[in-house]
Amino acid sequence: MNTVLSLVYLLATGTFIAGLKMLGHPETAKRGNLIAALGMGMAIAGTLLLHTLEVPVFVYALIVTAIVLGGIIGWLIAVKVEMTKMPELVSLFNGFGGASAALIGLVAYGNTATDTSTAIMATIIAGVIIGSTTFSGSFVAWAKLNGSMRSTISLPKYNLINNLVALGILLFGTFLVWTGTDNLLYLYLLALAALVYGVLFVIPIGGADMPVVISLLNSLTGIAAAITGILYDNMVMLVGGILVGSAGLILTFAMCKAMNRSLSNVIFGGFGEAVSSERGAKVAGHIKKTSPSDTAVLMNYADNVIIVPGYGLAVAQAQHVIHEMETLLTDRGVNVRYAIHPVAGRMPGHMNVLLAESNVDYDKLIEMDDINPQFVHADVVLVVGANDVVNPAAHNDPSSPIYGMPILEVENAKHIVVNKRSMKPGYAGIENELFYHQKTAMLFGDAKAALTDLVSELKNM
Ligand code: NDP
Repeated sequence: MNTVLSLVYLLATGTFIAGLKMLGHPETAKRGNLIAALGMGMAIAGTLLLHTLEVPVFVYALIVTAIVLGGIIGWLIAVKVEMTKMPELVSLFNGFGGASAALIGLVAYGNTATDTSTAIMATIIAGVIIGSTTFSGSFVAWAKLNGSMRSTISLPKYNLINNLVALGILLFGTFLVWTGTDNLLYLYLLALAALVYGVLFVIPIGGADMPVVISLLNSLTGIAAAITGILYDNMVMLVGGILVGSAGLILTFAMCKAMNRSLSNVIFGGFGEAVSSERGAKVAGHIKKTSPSDTAVLMNYADNVIIVPGYGLAVAQAQHVIHEMETLLTDRGVNVRYAIHPVAGRMPGHMNVLLAESNVDYDKLIEMDDINPQFVHADVVLVVGANDVVNPAAHNDPSSPIYGMPILEVENAKHIVVNKRSMKPGYAGIENELFYHQKTAMLFGDAKAALTDLVSELKNM
């Protein structure tokens, strides 16, 4: 490889690291994303222009056409996608990343120029297995997120079946490496088995466990890319893949912690075992309704207000009006904070991103472990479009699919107002006894409309 290309790769790698660091804070995240994208652009351009490849011109033409077409499609999708659809888009990106790694493995395997040493064969096989599993698994996750697939589908003895299929794939892969066979049919069979495993792995998982599987698939995409980097002795792919893989894995651990699960539970079964939308105790009782004007009075005369944002806030795109309400109250001397549950919304950090969009002060976003002891001091908790993350069944109903998941302990506050459109359940598909709690009043309506009314009531006071 020539020195200039090495320097380009080094620079690109630097932008990935700097970009990733900047993604850690909402204020710098946008710039971080741009810097890393610029680095990736440099790496691609450097590879095309500076790599000594002896391929016909039409191959270059094909590559450029693919880049232009892919770029246009990606740009159009990114411009059009709604915030609430972002998690689905991320799942698709994960899937395509996995597919690329698997395809590269398949191409390298059939290529006579490929080194057939055991290490390279093992790398190819690992790329095909991880890439194919990530591809099909991510598409199932995508279907679950957009609601086109039932939340959980559990085959009888699915844990045993899944683990046997995974073991079979590993043994078959080892056999291929061991024998060093160049029969492509075997590799296609392996890829097919890994595709089936990806589906089997994700279909039983649902409800509150989805965030863990999504971040795990994200991490696998990175690992698949890193493997491809090893295959082509390409530093920038290797480092980029490792960064995505390790960042994804850190996120997976954070999500496991948030959901009270262990990673071995996730990988080897038991995962999703308790999940079924049909389970959980039936909740009965009376609900109390409230109005924007009563809620405005309650909040206006409070000392401490905690807002709990959830997926519904994103659906309603009510982040700007909620910020306006928070500013109004703060100006009147009310201490207003937001309680952020790690899996609120439909992607890790969803609420942080959403509220950052409306310039909510980052210091006002308080993580679950820090805000939970504060609920006893709250005069009012306003839950906006959140459901599972405040469901007390996670604490007191062992039959509930979310039992054991840490939640925001809003029932400790003096008054609770819940804004949502109906009594429909949230993502986990279960009822919520919080809505029937004697301290709770329901403010029915779309979050944007309800908060807009609330703001005008506050302004009139
Ligand atoms: P939930 O999905 O539990 O609840 C959202 C609530 O918002 C619904 O009950 C809905 O009720 C209400 N809602 C929807 N639209 C509106 C609107 N326009 N105005 C007002 N309310 C609305 O959300 P949470 O944030 O509490 O919990 C997230 C769930 O998603 C968890 O189960 C989590 O495991 C899962 N998940 C999270 C991921 C992540 O990475 N964060 C990824 C995948 C899944 P109604 O229809 O009556 O209005």
